[in-house]
Amino acid sequence: MAPSCSPVNSLHVAVIGAGAAGLVAARELRRESHSVVVFDRGTEVGGLWVYTPQSEPDPLSLDPARTVVHSSVYDSLRTNLPRECMGYSDFPFVPRPEHDESRDPRRYPNHREVLAYLRDFARVQTRGDGSVRDRSGSCRARRSEVEDPIKKLRWGVQR
Ligand SMILES: Cc1cc2nc3c(=O)[nH]c(=O)nc-3n(C[C@H](O)[C@H](O)[C@H](O)COP(=O)(O)OP(=O)(O)OC[C@H]3O[C@@H](n4cnc5c(N)ncnc54)[C@H](O)[C@@H]3O)c2cc1C
Repeated sequence: MAPSCSPVNSLHVAVIGAGAAGLVAARELRRESHSVVVFDRGTEVGGLWVYTPQSEPDPLSLDPARTVVHSSVYDSLRTNLPRECMGYSDFPFVPRPEHDESRDPRRYPNHREVLAYLRDFARVQTRGDGSVRDRSGSCRARRSEVEDPIKKLRWGVQR
């Protein structure tokens, strides 16, 4: 006998982080009819693949007020896995138009190619345009002190 599926109520869901994991989480939640907002402390999708030449002034992270540089990608980095192992199963990481010189068709491409792929995924699969415009800034999820008698459980996102 087939297992019975109970209907899922549509929820407002916050996804913290617009890296590879957050993007696909948002896509799956939208597929399940939830309304989703993706929060990221940066202003772009891509997570650690958003390259910056900056490095942290405090490598041991002793100063809590230090400038945090999320990406540990360096300029000459190429992937250490072949692209066919890196893509989402239903959105393969295949070389994009050959006439676009900004893309890297190699099997072990540079980090810019990975970021371009994640932007493509965000644009096509999450109806975004490649930016996290509305919700940037470091944040954390917290359970509300006050119980909601109707919804039972309340979470909030603080920035
Ligand atoms: C140097 C290096 C090379 C790598 N090379 C490969 C490779 O070749 N192939 C491969 O498959 N994998 C590689 N990886 C693994 C890599 O971790 C994954 O490919 C993938 O990018 C991880 O995605 P993620 O979404 O889990 O995390 P991330 O890409 O780190 O994204 C997390 C996001 O969450 C945001 N965030 C975190 N906390 C908060 C907060 N409190 N508030 C708001 N925003 C927040 C961050 O700003 C970030 O944008 C490499 C990793 C590193 C470090």
